[in-house]
Amino acid sequence: MQVLDGKALAQTIKEELKVKVDAIRQAGGKIPHLAAVLVGENPASQVYVRNKVRSCEAVGFRSTLLRRPQDITQSELLQIVTELNADPDIDGYIVQLPLPAHIDEDAINLAIDPRKDVDGFTPVNIGRMTLGLDAYLPATPNGIMVMLDRYGIETSGKEVVVLGRSNIVGTPMTVLLSRKSNPGNATVTLCHSRTKDLKAHTLHADIIVAAIGIPEMVTADMVKEGAVVIDVGINRVDDASRSKGYRLAGDVDYAGLKDKVSAMTPVPGGVGPMTVVSLLMNTLKASQKR
Ligand code: NDP
Repeated sequence: MQVLDGKALAQTIKEELKVKVDAIRQAGGKIPHLAAVLVGENPASQVYVRNKVRSCEAVGFRSTLLRRPQDITQSELLQIVTELNADPDIDGYIVQLPLPAHIDEDAINLAIDPRKDVDGFTPVNIGRMTLGLDAYLPATPNGIMVMLDRYGIETSGKEVVVLGRSNIVGTPMTVLLSRKSNPGNATVTLCHSRTKDLKAHTLHADIIVAAIGIPEMVTADMVKEGAVVIDVGINRVDDASRSKGYRLAGDVDYAGLKDKVSAMTPVPGGVGPMTVVSLLMNTLKASQKR
């Protein structure tokens, strides 16, 4: 089985980005600047945002982290978004999800200027993506597309099953994989919690993308021999033997599948680093457009 090593690939792409940023600096151009808004103390979100900020620094971008308390009001958060939209120094920004329950996530998302929407979550970018126009593509699905491309995994004419229909992963994944492009041109089935007999679908899949959020739900009996498996899931599972008291598990039973599939992403070190790199690619693009 080929391990689709997102960590190593992300490192390669970061080095490529760094070369581009160095060239911009030498030419006296504007250094890309990403801002991240982090609300509250969600431990996973803190790790994600820290990784994003560190990765910015590694490639020579500027980054600004705006931390706000859990009890921030909707109007205070909207004010930050308005200021980031207007700030000429900021090329792109993200508002890390999930937001606290009292905040209307849709209202915040709708307020983000699509030209600075490097997460690719706003309606304009999702619409442009769906129409095949130039857009900031959602970071995780785009990171997966980059990975499929760089690893030379054929998607044209393949049967792909995407598990999970979230706005940020599953749904845009189906759009990108079924587009008339390379990678793309796949026949895609989108499964979710109302799907009857998930296994009947996954057993026919040449490629499975699992984005469900249930640890190790995809087991060997659900997968065809030689399939390619992309595991998006990042789940904390209690584990008293670890110093942190938990381990990270994907949505796929990696140990159970590894002798059956032809290629698979590990967790951690698979899709996660590609998500971060995709965000950096969008930020560079935003900076160059402005
Ligand atoms: P959501 O919770 O938003 O969506 C989960 C989806 O899975 C829903 O569409 C849901 O169906 C579906 N689902 C739930 N249970 C089942 C089931 N038993 N059978 C079939 N489908 C099911 O999750 P996200 O898309 O935001 O994230 C998914 C996973 O990916 C999480 O573990 C998350 O941490 C991880 N993640 C990883 C990223 C990375 O960079 N690697 C980035 C983003 C997320 P329904 O719509 O019917 O409820």
